[in-house]
Amino acid sequence: MISQIDKDIITNLLAHPDLRDRQGMDQRVYARISYKKNGVYGWNCNKTHPLQAKFAKYLRPEAIELHAEMDAIVRSVRIFGTDWLENTTLYVVRLKRPGPNIDEWVTGLAKPCEICMAAIEAFDINRVVYTIDKEGIRELIR
Ligand SMILES: [Zn+2]
Repeated sequence: MISQIDKDIITNLLAHPDLRDRQGMDQRVYARISYKKNGVYGWNCNKTHPLQAKFAKYLRPEAIELHAEMDAIVRSVRIFGTDWLENTTLYVVRLKRPGPNIDEWVTGLAKPCEICMAAIEAFDINRVVYTIDKEGIRELIR
């Protein structure tokens, strides 16, 4: 069940300056892996990453640009190791332009793709909370 804490984390993620300050992108995705009060962030970028490529290999081998969820996993592993990821919640938000040439951001569907879902399963992250269009929030429990 989506709690008030989940809603607050999503609200904070959407307000995070890193998400709004990034220039030259029409889609911005930001992720946070949370366990108790700890949080590690990740965001999408145009760079490729070997972990993204590893999970993309059998699903969509061309999709090797780093996704926000995978970036958060990479950073979490670097800081806390792999065990830390069990029983964590991964939060994902997406901001997008509502139409061409509209200088505004609205929330969009941030459900992890099949490549990130494979990594989420491999690292035993058991819950994902993500934005959908029109400011809604959904939860996915493994
Ligand atoms: Zn993905």
